[in-house]
Amino acid sequence: MAYTNSPLAVYRSISPHSSPRTHAIDTVTIHCMAGNLTIEACGTLFSSSSRIASSNYGVGSDGRIALYVEEKDRSMCSSDSVNDNRAVTIEVANDGGAPDWHVSDKAMHALIELLTDICRRNHIEGLRWEADRSLIGNTDRQNMTVHRWFAPKACPGNYLYDRHSYIAEEVSRKLGTSPAQTPEPATPPLQKKLYRIRRSWSDSRSQTGAFSSLKNAKAACPDGYTVFDSSGNAVYSRASAQTAPPVPESAGTAYEIFVRELQAATGAVADGCAGAGTLSKTVTLSKIRNNRHPAVKAVQKYLNSIGYDCGAPDGIAGPKFERAVKAFQKANGCIADGEITAGMNTWKKLLKLS
Ligand SMILES: [Zn+2]
Repeated sequence: MAYTNSPLAVYRSISPHSSPRTHAIDTVTIHCMAGNLTIEACGTLFSSSSRIASSNYGVGSDGRIALYVEEKDRSMCSSDSVNDNRAVTIEVANDGGAPDWHVSDKAMHALIELLTDICRRNHIEGLRWEADRSLIGNTDRQNMTVHRWFAPKACPGNYLYDRHSYIAEEVSRKLGTSPAQTPEPATPPLQKKLYRIRRSWSDSRSQTGAFSSLKNAKAACPDGYTVFDSSGNAVYSRASAQTAPPVPESAGTAYEIFVRELQAATGAVADGCAGAGTLSKTVTLSKIRNNRHPAVKAVQKYLNSIGYDCGAPDGIAGPKFERAVKAFQKANGCIADGEITAGMNTWKKLLKLS
């Protein structure tokens, strides 16, 4: 089929990290930038040759939309090539931090407009969301996926994740009211008995899914949510402490750049989100060990940005590097030996993993 791109994109910065699609577009994947990047800054990240990362579109907190990878091509976005080959991926800027990764109203509005346009041009009748990982690829029932299903990540953040039902409803409603489409009612009539997952019954906006099977509803119920029957009676609740919290992704441009540069330098998955995988790829850096490793420069830049003077980031770990590392270690309760040992405490502190 002939692919087109959204006319809603006001900025274009084509990333080298893409290849021709091997599957028609039938899915959308909404991501969070884990930072308040402008669409231009995100485009710069995605155009860097050292970071294998991209998305088809980006949405800024100001509601502006960028094109990074044309729809005819797959992006490198969701840690899953099957998904990226069939999905249009969208990175949305966050005006708040972990664990919610809040998104501005302007960005949310632009995201819904963009998704509506993507569906219309790619002949997708509506968006469907059941918050059910087992339905990946079963696009008749669910044609939205999330990064956290493919990798141990918080992406797209709880704010966007919790609003997937709302987003699906809004986009489907807009498509339904389009003159080009057969009109559909905004919400299906309540002829079917559905179990709905919400924070509270009255907070319909918090709904993350609706299931005909109670078992599926229980399985998909996130922390702090409750499953309600059609009459609004609570039938199952999941307390906040029952499962592990999402992997933290810290905000801040310097930190995010550091994580991405470090991942590129160590061969970790370059997704900008630090986790166990990134830590496992770290190497020992000091004045005498790996003192010219590509990761040295990323550390120098980051230490400088948080107030530990490394001098000009030249990619060589020398006396200034050692002094800065010692100062960082002292301030963060690590043994102040001037060495960043692979997988150990200083790396964890630098990556904000402990
Ligand atoms: Zn993501």
